[in-house]
Amino acid sequence: MAYSKMVKPETTDLLPLEVLRTEQLAPHWVRVTLGGGEIQKFQPMGHDQWFRLFIPVAGEAGLERVPAKAHKLFGYLKFLRIPDGERPVMRNYTVRAHRPATADRGAEIDIDFVLHGSAAEGTAGPASRWAETCKPGDRVLIIDEGLTFNPERGTDRVVLVGDETALPAIASICASLPESASGAVIIEVPSEEDALLFSHPADVSVEWIVRPASSAPGILAVSALRELRLPDAPFHAYAAGEQALASGVRKHLVGERGVDKNTVSFCGYWKIGAASPTSKSARENASEQVQ
Ligand SMILES: Cc1cc2nc3c(=O)[nH]c(=O)nc-3n(C[C@H](O)[C@H](O)[C@H](O)COP(=O)(O)OP(=O)(O)OC[C@H]3O[C@@H](n4cnc5c(N)ncnc54)[C@H](O)[C@@H]3O)c2cc1C
Repeated sequence: MAYSKMVKPETTDLLPLEVLRTEQLAPHWVRVTLGGGEIQKFQPMGHDQWFRLFIPVAGEAGLERVPAKAHKLFGYLKFLRIPDGERPVMRNYTVRAHRPATADRGAEIDIDFVLHGSAAEGTAGPASRWAETCKPGDRVLIIDEGLTFNPERGTDRVVLVGDETALPAIASICASLPESASGAVIIEVPSEEDALLFSHPADVSVEWIVRPASSAPGILAVSALRELRLPDAPFHAYAAGEQALASGVRKHLVGERGVDKNTVSFCGYWKIGAASPTSKSARENASEQVQ
């Protein structure tokens, strides 16, 4: 049976939020907690819910100019008309956790950012640099994008494979699965300290792979998958992370193990050596920081 690839969110309004606090979780991890603004409008969907994040790398005035539907073709063309020097950077991130409002405080969203490169040395991407340096009160915008892991493809038996950028998604998927779920998780991380433990159903095994600096992301995870005894079909497979990991997992499962392609959800999260679109001024801001 074919299921739709994505699960759309209820609303795709631009939501203004602010940084409430940050926490360094491990050498390559910073958790940024967002709230305030219009957080009450955010509808949590669990699983790997992700969103567009607009970061004001060139001053917060740029956020006022982001058009509605900036994540769709026409909105994005309008977004690109914001002058270079004011245009925020748009990146994709996952809801690691959502906490509803209580009597004492508003709702909150945690985002776990992989730190790559170094803000001080000017080698980090704009989103990584922002996560490393943002402060409480800093403003952002988000647009909800819904799920790539479509629960209709199955939640009883799963195989989840990713690199560190997919750890927030895989951890959140595991938190959304029924306790009776079974299956396997394979996650590749850049160091042992970056293996952030997470709760998962007892019959879902978790294999951590520490990638040596000499290895390209994804190769070891795909090799580990080759050795994995797959659950009985049908199961829902999910692969996310560096482009070659996501496509390598899908190719292996569908091409070599005969898995039905309609039960494989996958998403290339980033591409080695290829920055997501960045304005000239955002690049200049990065180099100014090292001068
Ligand atoms: C649906 C979705 C959900 C995502 N969720 C998360 C999440 O929860 N947490 C998270 O950390 N990332 C997540 N990502 C990945 C994140 O969007 C990318 O890593 C993004 O490129 C980072 O932006 P940047 O501005 O830091 O770097 P860019 O400007 O995009 O890239 C600059 C340079 O850094 C390299 N680069 C980018 N990301 C990495 C990396 N992680 N490690 C090493 N080199 C890198 C690029 O190849 C490029 O050479 C998600 C991506 C998608 C599509």
